[in-house]
Amino acid sequence: MVSSNALLLLATMGLAANAAAVPPQPQLQQAFEIEDYVNEDGSFTIIDLPMSNNEDHKCSGHDSYYQDSFRFHWPYFLKPTVKSESLQSKITLDSLNKSANALYDIAKKSKKEYGHPTRVIGSKGHSATLKWIKKRLSKLSYYYDISEQDFDAVYGRVKSATITFEDGLPLPDVKGMSLTPGVEPFLGHVIEIPNLGCDLEDFLPLAPIKKNSIALIERGKCPFGEKSKNAKLAGFKSAIIYNNEKHPKSFSGTLGDNINSTIATVAVPLEQGEELKAAILASKNKLYVNYAVDAYVESITTTNLIVETKKGDENNVVSLGAHTDGVETGPGINDDGSGTISLLTVAEELAGYKINNKVRFMFVAAEEEGLLGSTHYANSLSPEANNKTRLMMDYDMMASPNFQFQVYDANNIDNPKGSEEIKNLYIDYYVSHGYNYSLIPFDGRSDYVGFLDVGIPAGGIAAGAEGINTDNGKVLDKCYHELCDDVSNLNFDAFLVNTQLIAHSVATYARDLSDFPLREAQAEPKTVANEYKYRGSQLIL
Ligand SMILES: [Zn+2]
Repeated sequence: MVSSNALLLLATMGLAANAAAVPPQPQLQQAFEIEDYVNEDGSFTIIDLPMSNNEDHKCSGHDSYYQDSFRFHWPYFLKPTVKSESLQSKITLDSLNKSANALYDIAKKSKKEYGHPTRVIGSKGHSATLKWIKKRLSKLSYYYDISEQDFDAVYGRVKSATITFEDGLPLPDVKGMSLTPGVEPFLGHVIEIPNLGCDLEDFLPLAPIKKNSIALIERGKCPFGEKSKNAKLAGFKSAIIYNNEKHPKSFSGTLGDNINSTIATVAVPLEQGEELKAAILASKNKLYVNYAVDAYVESITTTNLIVETKKGDENNVVSLGAHTDGVETGPGINDDGSGTISLLTVAEELAGYKINNKVRFMFVAAEEEGLLGSTHYANSLSPEANNKTRLMMDYDMMASPNFQFQVYDANNIDNPKGSEEIKNLYIDYYVSHGYNYSLIPFDGRSDYVGFLDVGIPAGGIAAGAEGINTDNGKVLDKCYHELCDDVSNLNFDAFLVNTQLIAHSVATYARDLSDFPLREAQAEPKTVANEYKYRGSQLIL
């Protein structure tokens, strides 16, 4: 029911007289809530409609993904100040679903080159993803500034990695490390490295190293890239890193951004490392294996899209991010098509509101290659821009099929002050809506890392990757980094709740940061990347 005051307000605003100029009512109601103009004591704010040539008054026209509807936008000063419940109510299943289907069609643009849909950096699917975001948000150019930040990223592809014994028997579970260089097949002498290969001294007792030697190194203590570098410096041609914990399969590790300084490096399970060590012993240090890695690493330029509200206090910036790229093996609709769509949807709906603080939506690239885009962006912030950024919220994988509501377990001791408040905002939301949530390690697996490293408080939520759902013992996302990460892989219940929570987080902080801890003087960063176990989806140590 509309209050009488509200009706009076409508009349005062001269809406009836301008009826011909406004679109049909349902769209009008979406962008405008009369109760936002009614004061708490029942009085109301009198406002006039602007001149029709006011830039803010122009409608956005037809949106290609909302073919038969068009948005009416009030001039900025007439917009209601954003409120969480109101912004949340604008998020609909229908629009999430349409966007997910659109994004899958975009991933299919890579089919010719890759043989299947993908949105990996450098692919047509990825560049079309960026174009799609830009196209949708440039319709709101009266509300947002869009900037593009190009940067160089490394992209690697491992086609195969094999080790066979001289009798022709293969080692069963060899996995080429991400960003490993390739090496032509060769017969090499396997040498066990004492200690963990984290210092060049670990290799020195073995000198001189003969041509075609293969270093067998245990996982642990330092990044895989360091071990590979040291082995190269010591004269080895390639390396095998075996797990230090029991796991039936080999692990996914990355050498990191160390082009030219590493050698071909593969990962094997602990059991197979033990098998190699036993064979070395049995052969009296004369174990030879055939070793081959078919892989390449290349440098390509890709782009972060930064979308920032024109209005709002520029000294208090609320930022949030999702990654636009996927892995090579599939379309990446949950990872992180879902987060990308959530941000896009919330950005479109936020444009119907006035805000007190500036909001920055960061669509970052090359997350899957090691959080490259977000790290590049965070490092490129000037000291002033850094200090004005009050917080960063990371939204990666919002709609996992066997989801849990996961909250990154941030705190104000190990992480910049404010990180814990962000965590509590998510927890309060899930609890107040009657959902269970679980805390997951804040251990470097997504784009928040670069921001923490430069002192910006951060947090985020996720719905789950390759881990196990603790409620039912099954994998959270059975299609994680697989070809089947398509629209049918999304759980739309989780997608809706999480996108509404994102709307809540944006509305809350865009409206008011007075209870949020002030930025600490940017002293020593509280966390450093090397303390993390992960860099994106890959283990680094
Ligand atoms: Zn992701």
